[in-house]
Amino acid sequence: MNTPFQNAMEQLKKAGEIMKLTEEQFARLSHPDRVIEVSIPVLMDSGETQIFIGYRAQYNNVLGPYKGGIRYHWGVTYDEVKALSFWMTIKCAALGLPLGGGKGGVIVDPKKLSKHELEQLSRGYVQKLWRYLGSDIDVPAPDVYTNGEIMGWMRDEFEKCSGKKDPGVITGKPVSEGGSEVREYATAQGGVYCVEELSEKKGFIPENTTIAVQGFGNAGSYMAEILSQKGYRIVAVSDSKGGVYAPEGINIATLKEYKRTHGSVANFPDTQHISNEELLQLPVDILIPAALESVITAENAEKITARTILELANGPTTPEADEILSKKGIVIVPDVLANAGGVTVSCFEWQQNITGEHWTAEVVLSKLETAMKHAFGDIWNTSEEYHISLRKAAFVRAIKQITDKM
Ligand code: NAD
Repeated sequence: MNTPFQNAMEQLKKAGEIMKLTEEQFARLSHPDRVIEVSIPVLMDSGETQIFIGYRAQYNNVLGPYKGGIRYHWGVTYDEVKALSFWMTIKCAALGLPLGGGKGGVIVDPKKLSKHELEQLSRGYVQKLWRYLGSDIDVPAPDVYTNGEIMGWMRDEFEKCSGKKDPGVITGKPVSEGGSEVREYATAQGGVYCVEELSEKKGFIPENTTIAVQGFGNAGSYMAEILSQKGYRIVAVSDSKGGVYAPEGINIATLKEYKRTHGSVANFPDTQHISNEELLQLPVDILIPAALESVITAENAEKITARTILELANGPTTPEADEILSKKGIVIVPDVLANAGGVTVSCFEWQQNITGEHWTAEVVLSKLETAMKHAFGDIWNTSEEYHISLRKAAFVRAIKQITDKM
């Protein structure tokens, strides 16, 4: 099986063939500018010192400072961080943001650390890397198992180490510490703008459009909620404990409340039980994977009967499944576009910090809508011009922005 970075390079190769990249351009895009590995000693509550390994991959900064989250996970690897920093490069460029791509990670199970240990680890990461960070160099953000509080510690540590105020060094901060309005639901909101554009292209009318959402966490639950407020019919929803199905539509506001009190959407009254695998196979107009990577694979792709797929999760479709779905004529709005609302509002936060402004939610939403719909339209047109999938078109648009600047 390919590593994540090998998969990323396969995608680059396919886009490169369409665009007729020169060998030099291809070579430049196949290597990160640098990947830094650090060891972080943390004095644990037990009195022992434990060493954690961390990475920061800075892939490409042709369009602007490196940008990408920091993930705390036991499965973090050098290869994965490098691949994720490549995809961030593509995502920022596909959206036309003035940012490059980066990604960070620490090999740790954060649930096993006390709050004090977590803070020491986060500050230690910055102590080792602060010379390579800054609002004009590299701007991290939260990712898997990191959050606004951790970003707050990191910003504080960066300012202590560098001796200068630089609130734009990190995004995803709480609003009270310079964070942006809308950030909490920005990923879903960006996905909703894509659904609206997709609906226009495919002639979907909200009341008649059926949608299934896999995953009811930050991204999936906001997505289901906003779409249902806009009149779309959410017929199925799931989380790690199971799913629910109601052909006539589910009341998402009540379901959110139910999940808050019961810990899962499973067994929500007046719905039928459905497994995650069955949810993926429903004949809906739009299927939205919003949970994990690699859920649509060569094994189940033939059974997918949705008319379109919008990838709110990162990497939910394997490359083999992508080919199968493409042959079946299923339109896929790829992750680099569909979930880019998060990084777009991160970019807005960075811009607000640099200029010392604070934009209202209305201003942020309007700028987000313009950015997402413009990127969607451009990628759609590229896909028609070259007769390629939206995923390849997003790569082509992104790589063109980078190579033009190079
Ligand atoms: P989250 O942890 O808040 O939610 C994940 C959800 O998936 C939970 O409801 C969980 O129960 C569910 N889940 C876990 N295993 C499942 C399974 N086997 N079947 C069905 N559901 C399952 O995470 P999130 O922030 O909502 O992120 C979800 C996806 O969206 C990830 O791929 C993430 O990389 C991507 N994403 C999120 C953001 C963001 O701003 N939150 C931005 C870009 C991309």
